[in-house]
Amino acid sequence: MQTSEMQKQLLRWFDRHARTLPWRSRAVRRDPYRVWVSEIMLQQTQVVTVIPYYQRWLRLFPTIGALARAKPAAVLKAWEGLGYYRRARNLHATAREVVRCHSGRLPATRDGLLALPGIGRYTAGAILSIAFGQREPLVDGNVARVLARLFGVRQNVKSGTGQARLWKLAGSLVPAKRPGAFNESLMELGATVCTPAGPRCDCCPVRKLCVALRLGEVERLPNTGKRPKSRFVRQRALLIWRDGRLLIRRRRSGESMCGLWEFPSEPVAGVRSTVGERIGSIRHSVMNDQLLVAAHDCHWLGGEPIRQGETGCWRWADRATLARLPFIGAHRKIVGLLVVVGR
Ligand code: SF4
Repeated sequence: MQTSEMQKQLLRWFDRHARTLPWRSRAVRRDPYRVWVSEIMLQQTQVVTVIPYYQRWLRLFPTIGALARAKPAAVLKAWEGLGYYRRARNLHATAREVVRCHSGRLPATRDGLLALPGIGRYTAGAILSIAFGQREPLVDGNVARVLARLFGVRQNVKSGTGQARLWKLAGSLVPAKRPGAFNESLMELGATVCTPAGPRCDCCPVRKLCVALRLGEVERLPNTGKRPKSRFVRQRALLIWRDGRLLIRRRRSGESMCGLWEFPSEPVAGVRSTVGERIGSIRHSVMNDQLLVAAHDCHWLGGEPIRQGETGCWRWADRATLARLPFIGAHRKIVGLLVVVGR
C-alpha cells in the first residue's frame, strides 16, 4: 500500500515538476546510446556543465557506430574540460566493443552491460530502466540520500551493508510500469528537493511517508560515515513556578523526540511570568551537540499557554508528576538539579 502510494506520488510529481533537459525528450529515452552518454557525463559533473557537452557530443558522434569509428584524439577533444577522462576512454572502448561483438547495439541485459568497460551497476540500471523499460533499480548519490531519509536508513550509505540495504529498497520500489521515469523521479527529487543541505520538505511529494521527517532526523541522514564537528550550544530552561507546580510541554508529532516532555526555553505565549536568576546549569551531549543548559527560576503572574494544538501540549506538573513523565535527556537532568538545589 505504502509502496504504491509512494510510486504514484513520485511519478505524478515528476510529470509535473521535472526539469526540461536535453536527455529527457521522448526520442532520447528510447535510444540506449543517448541515455548511456548522458548518464556517463552526469557522473561527477553538474547538469549545467553537461548540457553543452552532451549536445556537441551528439553532433559529433550521433550513433554508437560514429563513436566507434572516431579517432581517440577526437573523442578526448570532445570531452576536453569535462574532467575524469577515463569516462571518455571507456565510452570509446565500449562503443568499439559493441560494434564488434553486439552488432552495434547496447545489450539489453544487466550482465551484458556490466561486462562492458565503464558500465557499473548504476549505469546498467539507468540504461535498462530508462531506455529498455525494464524493472531495474538504480542507486546513485541522490537516490541514496532520498531513500536513507524516506526509510530512515541509519547505516553508513557508503558501507557494504548500507549499499546492500539501499539497492534492496530501490529494487522493491521500482514499478513494472514506467520504471525509468520512476528512477528518474528519485534522482530528480534528490537533485532539486531532497538536497544535502536545506531540503525543501514542505514541497516534497512523499513527505507524509518520510521517516526522517517524522522523527526529526532529516539533517542527520544520510549517514555518510563522516562525523560532523561537535557544536557547543547554550540553551536555557525556564522553570515557571505556580503554586509549587512547573509549566512543562510535550513535544508534538513532527518534532524530534516527539511525545517527550520539556521545560520552555522562551517565554510562553499567553503566560505572564518573571524570568529570574539562574539556579544552576547542566551539561548534556546529544548526537554532535554539546549542550550547556542554564535553568532559571521564574514565577507565574497570570494566564495560560495558548494555541495548545500547534505548540504541543502544556500542563502544570507537581514534583511527583515531574518524576513520572518521560523528559528529553537534558531536561531530565534539570529535574534532578531541582532536587540538588532544594527547589
Ligand atoms: S520529506 Fe524531506 S527528507 Fe523526506 S524525502 Fe521529502 S525532502 Fe527528503
